[in-house]
Amino acid sequence: MAQSEPTRTAEGPQELAGRVALVTGGGRGIGKAIALKLATMGADVAVNYNASADPAETVVGELRDLGVRAESYQADITSTEQIDTMFESAIEEFGKVDILVNNAGIIKDRLLIRMTDDDWDRVVATDLRGAFACTRAAARSMMKTRWGRIINISSVVALAGNPGQANYAAAKSGLNGFTMSVAKELAPRNVTANIVAPGYITTDVTDALSDEVKKQLTDHIPLGRRGEAWEVAELVGFLCTPRASYITGQVLAIDGGLALTG
Ligand code: NDP
Repeated sequence: MAQSEPTRTAEGPQELAGRVALVTGGGRGIGKAIALKLATMGADVAVNYNASADPAETVVGELRDLGVRAESYQADITSTEQIDTMFESAIEEFGKVDILVNNAGIIKDRLLIRMTDDDWDRVVATDLRGAFACTRAAARSMMKTRWGRIINISSVVALAGNPGQANYAAAKSGLNGFTMSVAKELAPRNVTANIVAPGYITTDVTDALSDEVKKQLTDHIPLGRRGEAWEVAELVGFLCTPRASYITGQVLAIDGGLALTG
């Protein structure tokens, strides 16, 4: 049974007060839950979106209702030019970017022998190169302030592979290696970089699966249910706090035990 979401209020320790977060794909799904979580912890939030302007505006309204500053930024993260413009605008508005959550991602599932170059290139350009270009842009600000948190949303598929997802697994595994390298490179500047690897989480993507496929997937999960976006957001929120200051370069699976089943 799905776990109910804690009430979102700006109560409790404002551990991220004074911090500025940018969440890619923050207008929907897991990204939205992360943006809201960081705001409840006191962070100002820049919400990136590509196609979903209205949902992103709605999220910005919800963030402001929590008492933080929030703006939305349209940028297709497959375009380095658009990414750099977004970071320039966000830094002009907020002064810096302390927390980057590379959440935006797509799938283009197809069995290997039918997978096209375009299926491959689009997934790699979004899920891997987009995260690289956003991290490079954010790192400039983090290195100046000598504080930063980079959280890259990968997948359990990167740890074990999945039929029909060779492109996605390659991109997300690449993201894992990328994050570990960044963790080493930026550690002297007090910037941590970690990977959150969700399993099967309730979002538009997984809601669109047939009931039969949903059941098959759920049957393999030791905890016997899908995860919720807010549960992923809780982990991301923790990784941004001073309590997580000695964790870097790690892959943290949040999957109800799915990765244990091989
Ligand atoms: P959704 O499909 O619900 O949302 C995808 C998000 O990515 C949207 O906000 C979308 O923005 C954004 N996005 C896609 N392409 C681009 C682009 N070119 N430029 C900017 N933004 C873009 O996905 P989920 O919330 O389910 O997934 C979020 C992350 O979690 C992804 O990286 C995914 O791989 C990962 N994940 C999800 C799992 C799940 O079970 N749901 C499991 C494991 C990992 P817009 O609508 O504006 O285009």
